Amino acid sequence: MKLPKPTGNYCYLCNKPLSEYDSNLKPQPDDKETKDHIPPDCLFPKPKPSNLISVKCCYRCNQDHSEFDTQLQVMASLPFDRNPAGQRTLDEKVFQGIFGTGRQLDLQLQVLSTIRNVPNSNLARFNIHGKPFTDGMIQITKGLLRFFYPNFDYSKNHFIVIPLSPIPSEAQTRLIQMLGQRQYDVRGDRVFEFWRYVDETKNSGGWMITFYQCSAFVVLHKPPETFNLLTKLRMLWNKIRAKFLSDRFQIVSSRHWINYAKQFISLPGFAKAL
Ligand SMILES: [Zn+2]
Repeated sequence: MKLPKPTGNYCYLCNKPLSEYDSNLKPQPDDKETKDHIPPDCLFPKPKPSNLISVKCCYRCNQDHSEFDTQLQVMASLPFDRNPAGQRTLDEKVFQGIFGTGRQLDLQLQVLSTIRNVPNSNLARFNIHGKPFTDGMIQITKGLLRFFYPNFDYSKNHFIVIPLSPIPSEAQTRLIQMLGQRQYDVRGDRVFEFWRYVDETKNSGGWMITFYQCSAFVVLHKPPETFNLLTKLRMLWNKIRAKFLSDRFQIVSSRHWINYAKQFISLPGFAKAL
């Protein structure tokens, strides 16, 4: 039997050594070297920018999060204040490509079952499960760390994800102001923007990440022993809460898209329910 050749590289998610890609091997080994785009390249309307970020990833981890790529496309492009690149993604990929062909039925059901109109506005609100997005933002941050700081060891860091509300709280506003002054970078036509502050000597960092100028997250990471007692208690509470209650993200979108979506949503009864 032919064995895969090791490459001396490591997967940015599971940190296991990778083996060289060999098309003759069947089935493909789990540790086969693949490339992962940070963030998923399906977020970028065509023509795609030439400076997309990619890192090395094993075949298994790459397969494990392929669902998240399309979920992020939906979640990032639905908010009412998306920019033109977000609008194109919503029109061309989400409605026609995902909803129109009946993919992501679970996500479609979440949208359907939680839609509420916002009084005195042309907006509608709905909830989706938060966990895949929290995990996804940690994954994106790890990818950015591997790309920009290849010597940074984040394997023992604890990651905290804070989704930013369109009307941020006082604490969120402070975070936005603090990180907004840090190093800025962008990919695509303001598809993906990020601000970073990484302290390699303290093995910690903070990131602000936005998609289409509307969906925004802060990700903080540091060794668990450096958190103060209050933060540790809060982390414990969040863990307990996540176990018993499903964490939810609220998205505010325009009612206009719901009317538009009726043409594309493939779920039986969806159009009637709206
Ligand atoms: Zn892996």
